[in-house]
Amino acid sequence: MNIYGITDRGRVRTQNQDAFYEWTDGTYAVLLVCDGMGGAKAGNVASTLAAQQFAEALAQSHGGVQERLRDALAQANEAVYTRSRQDAACQGMGTTLVAAFAGEGRAYFINVGDSRAYYLTPDGIRQVTRDHSLVAELVESGKLTEEEARSHPNRNVITRALGTAGDVIGDIFEVDLEEDSRLLLCSDGLSNLVTPEEMLQTALAEGRVADCCARLVALALERGAPDNVTVVMLDTVPKSA
Ligand code: CA
Repeated sequence: MNIYGITDRGRVRTQNQDAFYEWTDGTYAVLLVCDGMGGAKAGNVASTLAAQQFAEALAQSHGGVQERLRDALAQANEAVYTRSRQDAACQGMGTTLVAAFAGEGRAYFINVGDSRAYYLTPDGIRQVTRDHSLVAELVESGKLTEEEARSHPNRNVITRALGTAGDVIGDIFEVDLEEDSRLLLCSDGLSNLVTPEEMLQTALAEGRVADCCARLVALALERGAPDNVTVVMLDTVPKSA
């Protein structure tokens, strides 16, 4: 298992309000992306705090993977929501969170917001998570195409966030991992500029996950990168015996 993550402020924003986390012991891996929102530096506080709290809570949890993911999400939500009520500068802040736990031929995901997880094999790529966003609802009801959604003026409006209320529900997804498959997690700063087909082509063309992540960020920067860009990638998941 090889894992790599990278984040870039982009070409327009003065701050980077994305955060990511990646960990592997060779058998299991945890990867996540958070995209914060809020005035001044609050978005950065929300994404960083959520990423840290989620990773810590997941590492300390026991039981089934889905339950562990839900518990970690609840603890991250609690931490961000509490901070937003204690610190006036952080009032109303929130963040997306997409996380994956992979190992022994299977991956589990939890998602809140519009950061994404994709599953890649040499044969294709598919989006695992469903966005909680206004444009995703319009795409699902047939009122927008995926391409129109990527440039829609309200593309940043999310319908579910972590840390903006006392409770949050994350959607859970599962994928059986084939050999030579990859997981890609990213913020909308990447997915609004780079198509899934381009992500797959890059993964197939570049060998190491670090090179692949760097190439994807470079592609977003070439296209103007109006938003922060974050990508985390995991490769070569061995089948359990
Ligand atoms: Ca963003």
